[in-house]
Amino acid sequence: MQGLMMNRPLAVIDLLRYAAEIHSNEEIVSVRTEGDLHRQDYARTFERTAQLAHGLAALGIEPGDRVATLAWNGYRHFELYYAISGMGAVCHTINPRLSAEQMLFILNHAEDRVLFVDLTFVPILEALKDHLPANLRLVVMTDAAHSPESALDLECYEDLIAPHPTEYDWPDLPEETAAGLCYTSGTTGNPKGSLYSHRSTVLHALFIAVTLPRSLHEGARLLPVVPMFHVNSWGMPYAAPIVGASLIMPGGKLDGPSLYDLMESENVTASWGVPTVWLGLRAEIEARGKPPSALDQVVIGGSAAPRSMIAFFETQGVDVCHAWGMTEMSPVGTTGQIPNSDSDVTFEDRVARKSLQGRRIFGVDLKIVDEAGQRLPQDGKAVGELYVRGNAVISGYFNDEAATKAAMDSECWFGTGDVASISPNGYLSIQDRSKDLIKSGGEWISSIDLENIAMSHPDVANCAVIAIAHPKWDERPVLVVVPKEGCEPTLQEFHDLMSEHFAKWQLPDDLVFIDALPLTATGKVSKLTLRRKFADYVLPDVR
Ligand code: AMP
Repeated sequence: MQGLMMNRPLAVIDLLRYAAEIHSNEEIVSVRTEGDLHRQDYARTFERTAQLAHGLAALGIEPGDRVATLAWNGYRHFELYYAISGMGAVCHTINPRLSAEQMLFILNHAEDRVLFVDLTFVPILEALKDHLPANLRLVVMTDAAHSPESALDLECYEDLIAPHPTEYDWPDLPEETAAGLCYTSGTTGNPKGSLYSHRSTVLHALFIAVTLPRSLHEGARLLPVVPMFHVNSWGMPYAAPIVGASLIMPGGKLDGPSLYDLMESENVTASWGVPTVWLGLRAEIEARGKPPSALDQVVIGGSAAPRSMIAFFETQGVDVCHAWGMTEMSPVGTTGQIPNSDSDVTFEDRVARKSLQGRRIFGVDLKIVDEAGQRLPQDGKAVGELYVRGNAVISGYFNDEAATKAAMDSECWFGTGDVASISPNGYLSIQDRSKDLIKSGGEWISSIDLENIAMSHPDVANCAVIAIAHPKWDERPVLVVVPKEGCEPTLQEFHDLMSEHFAKWQLPDDLVFIDALPLTATGKVSKLTLRRKFADYVLPDVR
């Protein structure tokens, strides 16, 4: 028997429509690429979003079209999130830190019709000018006065929206309609796209709002350090409007002093980001002797939060929530918080518990399996590959059958590529990574792709690229080479080979020679053994 309830589709635009009506005075404060600070409430944002939807229609955008963004966190980027998906098109956020090769691949793979670009990133496009898809239209996210001279054919954001009415007849879309697209690095080769739906996006916003009330509540002032090109800034632009939290958008100013000043002047109550950015803020707090006055919570995720970092913020009276998730999960999977009822927990216990990756949020199921795919017990001891399923987890990659097949198991769970244990009371502990990727400052580097290029060097008999721990970037790549007899290739020679395909920050930091690479029982290079062998290795810039 079916329930007798209305089947109203979940719609992304309703998050903002609600805020415009119920939390109309809460605001979006943005450090603009033009150099000033800009303020705009949700009511006005909803109006401008309607104008933008008309502007997109005037550009010929139709339901299902992909519209790309290359932008920092700011109100115009926020307006794009809502206008694009609200009219039935798909908002494709592009990571400006990708190599030129990867960026061109995803622009073509997504078949983007229009690309909205922040002033800062115009030079990236100018460098790619002759390779951009022929019919891609470019809109620079500023006003006419700030529009740059460029060899590119750039339209201007404010001119695009200015002539249009502040109301739009937002269509009722089936809730499974695609709303957003975000690519993440593959272990090899090309990036893979996660295609979010209206339903998954709204549900994820509700899930994190329920799970993280200390960050997300009426009157909160939330600073997303994690960029809007990283899995929708972990869902903050969708969750903040419904709870009535203001968003304080830092633009490109992510260094410790800038973040501290912005937090202080805007009374920021909570902030979310990867460990690397918190190092800068930590140094600034140490220099000034106190944390920003209103800061109550930091959410740390994207890489493991170091114990010392958790202890530091907690000592300063700033609550730490350690979160784990993935692009493919919208992204939040687990969060670590200590309930207030546990006030008798000692400081050491608190920090130790928060060093784990936390417990699953509502809407996410976890399982760990052995090599044969058999479920392992959640006893805190068994370690296996982590699989997930849930309402905001991908069912496959966008137009990529091979990657989809490789990622899903026979029960339609998604394989995370993380290796973990789960305690009887549900705490996830990430132990290792089976995917051959290195995460530096929150961004991925494919070790296999680096190895493939290194192998093309005539002096190399065999090689492997492994992650070495780094105090600022979490991990950095190091190239381990078995040279051919009598040969001594240099790091610079490898950089020269790799530069064509990789961004500069993705190149290995160091080169080490070895007589032979350790192998697994099946004859593959054992990265695990290599990582253990180099566990105490100190990178050149840290020595
Ligand atoms: P991304 O899709 O770029 O968000 O990366 C997701 C991956 O980052 C996960 O599969 C993990 O390998 C890693 N990761 C994210 N959060 C954490 C965390 N709190 N601790 C350890 N690894 C993490």
